[in-house]
Amino acid sequence: MALIDFKCIKCGEKFEEIVKLSDRENIKCPKCGSEDIKQVFEGKCCSVGSSKGVGGCSSGSCGGCSGCH
Ligand SMILES: [Zn+2]
Repeated sequence: MALIDFKCIKCGEKFEEIVKLSDRENIKCPKCGSEDIKQVFEGKCCSVGSSKGVGGCSSGSCGGCSGCH
């Protein structure tokens, strides 16, 4: 599991959820209830990493990073 940042496409609400990767499809916006959300990174992947405690961005090949390095 990981603490992941999400942003609601519908209302713009940002929120964090602790989710298993397999549960990502089921996340809903806590504000408007929309399932129309996307995952955001905003550099946080450098501390969280793509998998728990492993890798991160230091290797420059973080699979969960959308371009913070
Ligand atoms: Zn929303």
